[in-house]
Amino acid sequence: MDKPKSRIGLEIHVQLSTESKLFCSCPTAASEPNTSTCEVCLGFPGSKPVLNKKAVDYAIMVALALNCRINTGFFFSRKTYFYPDLAKNFQITQYEAPVGEKGFLEVDGVKVNIRRVHLEEDPASLIHTGSGSNVYSLVDYNRSGIPLVEIVTEPGIQSPEHARHFMDELLKVLGYLGVYTHGDSVLKADCNISIEGGERVEVKNVTGFRAIQDALSSEYERQKKVTAEGGLVERETRGFDAEKGATYPLRKKETEDDYGYIAEPDLVDVEVDPKWLSSLKGRMPELAAEKARRFMAQYGLREYDAKVLALDMNVADVFEGAAKVDLQLAVRVVSRELLGILNYNKLAISGTKIDSKGISGLVELMKSGKVSDRNAKESLIRYALEGVAPKEFLEKNGLLIDTNSSGVEEAVKGVVAENWQAFDEFRFGNQKSLNFLIGLVMRRLKGKADARQVQKIIEGMK
Ligand SMILES: [Zn+2]
Repeated sequence: MDKPKSRIGLEIHVQLSTESKLFCSCPTAASEPNTSTCEVCLGFPGSKPVLNKKAVDYAIMVALALNCRINTGFFFSRKTYFYPDLAKNFQITQYEAPVGEKGFLEVDGVKVNIRRVHLEEDPASLIHTGSGSNVYSLVDYNRSGIPLVEIVTEPGIQSPEHARHFMDELLKVLGYLGVYTHGDSVLKADCNISIEGGERVEVKNVTGFRAIQDALSSEYERQKKVTAEGGLVERETRGFDAEKGATYPLRKKETEDDYGYIAEPDLVDVEVDPKWLSSLKGRMPELAAEKARRFMAQYGLREYDAKVLALDMNVADVFEGAAKVDLQLAVRVVSRELLGILNYNKLAISGTKIDSKGISGLVELMKSGKVSDRNAKESLIRYALEGVAPKEFLEKNGLLIDTNSSGVEEAVKGVVAENWQAFDEFRFGNQKSLNFLIGLVMRRLKGKADARQVQKIIEGMK
């Protein structure tokens, strides 16, 4: 039993990118602690929640993208929650009737079933500080009431690695929808994992993409070890220590009933009429998997290129713009050069000033032979790092090739005259000498020539 099979289920909480909180108009963006609060998100007696429609729109779009059945009527419930990070002593969430149910997301050829997608409010952040006997906790209520969408999978994820791919795929979908706030701290998960012959263990409150993977891997190894030593994996709830990279026991698993859900009397039921639903369906973008399939059919791309180009919506747009100019160059510039530069510099295209117009402009210059490959690449690097459009950069630095000029021929003649020995060697078949001569010409012209054109001229002098 080297690699026992595992079953993993995830409950993933993602922050929706609305401007205000889920049940009040406090802004979701605030830097100073406890400055974005009101009587609703602080739970003052008599205060009444008002539902944020945009958050509902976003949650429905997430459920649609995950192939869920949308409940045409749903409501909110109070979940008993007696901790200082929710001042009301209950959390408004959805229990009996969520936004969507019974969906799936295909990952590595396996359909991972989605049990439900629902909306809930985030508690405040607790900051534990001090040392020795003087340890205390601070509460920042800015987070209290931030809208979260919770995505609950069935335990159909097959390994910690499969879970990582699932998270990748899910973030891709959410990125395409443009409904979630980027950044690690806004992604939290409860992870269920069991291995063959053992009970299910829940690892609670794991924060961040990386930590979710680490928690699953370390818990898988722990369960494997317990089983290998002849022990039994017991049903329990554990926490995850990100610094130690290990899980630790918290408590024996409580059941859902312990939370004492009751319907939230201060909010009316939400009815999703067909008009609302169809307008949201109309706003749904073509998602990455669909787009990759279309790229293969429409442009004849290999599967690898199609998937890489469809990964990020902005990259896909830039590629499609450039493909209108020249398909082969567009594939080369975007999937090889541009993505290479972005990966190397750990940048997302959304964090740069790169747009479709800039990349198409460069492809046009390349197509008409007005820029050398080296300078094209240099201009892309500048574009990614400094935001100067390639055409502008090449013009400003005098790096565009004047295709009508006789300057190239003159430079070739000059170089050959000064290096007649190398030219002679080339005539007797030495390829290295040819490359040496091309290099000299390119240097003389400061790269403002097309190496292929230079080669042709030298070959013509043979
Ligand atoms: Zn508020």
